[in-house]
Amino acid sequence: MDVSKKDTIPVSLPIKEIVEETPLIKTFKFEYPLGSKPGQFVMMWIPGVDEKPMSTSYDNGKEFWLTVQKVGSATKELFKLKKGDLIGIRGPFGTHFLFEKGDHIATVGGGCGCAPMYFLTRAALKKGCKVEYIVSASHKDKFMFLEDLKRRDNVNVHVAEMGKHGHAIELLKEALSSNKINRIFTCSHELAMKQVSDIAHEAGIFCQLTLERYMKCGFGVCGQCCIDPLGICVCKQGPIFNNALVRQMTEFGKYFRDDVGRKIKF
Ligand SMILES: Cc1cc2nc3c(=O)[nH]c(=O)nc-3n(C[C@H](O)[C@H](O)[C@H](O)COP(=O)(O)OP(=O)(O)OC[C@H]3O[C@@H](n4cnc5c(N)ncnc54)[C@H](O)[C@@H]3O)c2cc1C
Repeated sequence: MDVSKKDTIPVSLPIKEIVEETPLIKTFKFEYPLGSKPGQFVMMWIPGVDEKPMSTSYDNGKEFWLTVQKVGSATKELFKLKKGDLIGIRGPFGTHFLFEKGDHIATVGGGCGCAPMYFLTRAALKKGCKVEYIVSASHKDKFMFLEDLKRRDNVNVHVAEMGKHGHAIELLKEALSSNKINRIFTCSHELAMKQVSDIAHEAGIFCQLTLERYMKCGFGVCGQCCIDPLGICVCKQGPIFNNALVRQMTEFGKYFRDDVGRKIKF
């Protein structure tokens, strides 16, 4: 296995800026040439607390952003940090979304899944793609980046009504029927992504999905995030997977494993 120093030893970075997107979500900005691509993630060490996987929500080669939702003990401690405080970063890790100039893309993001979808959209627009940006969230405090994207050319923002389960899927169907979409990318709740997978499969459209599984090392050594029945690691062969591969995963849309490997049903 090819393991480099950047995989195992965190760089210690001061927080350059903190943006409060909503009461539940903050973006932490760092001045550092991480060089991540949309869909990739880092392991973020909150000193004295824990190390957690986070997707980059933007990276221009000089600075990168992490957009985090406060959900539990580690993210709660992270939210207490201030500008200038130090964070440990390993990575970038994993696979990334694939797109080409001229593509017409539909993205389906839910909750904090909008963080990588935002970065993907910015990168795709820069490359000359058109984007139908579909978002859903269970609460208004979980929407982010909408005003920023609405100001940009070649992107249409479609917001699913709050609390209406499945509404993002209806918006995706509408976008597919009125546009020549040739790529679908998603990062959302797995049950929503299962529907996206089925729609893309039936329509014969190239699709990539983001799988979230409990991760410890980030580079394929510990085996914590192995997927049934293929045995591949989400941190290394993912987290961005082609739909064809996802459809061979018997656990997809059914269960995941917690920190000690117990199966938890969706
Ligand atoms: C590849 C990847 C990218 C992610 N990107 C983002 C992001 O951009 N923004 C964001 O807010 N969140 C992201 N997450 C989820 C984030 O890692 C968890 O919300 C965070 O670890 C929660 O930690 P906690 O201690 O605050 O909460 P806890 O109460 O410990 O956990 C809450 C839930 O978070 C999940 N979780 C906890 N620890 C891990 C772990 N080590 N690996 C995977 N899942 C875990 C579990 O499902 C758990 O039930 C990502 C997860 C993965 C796997």
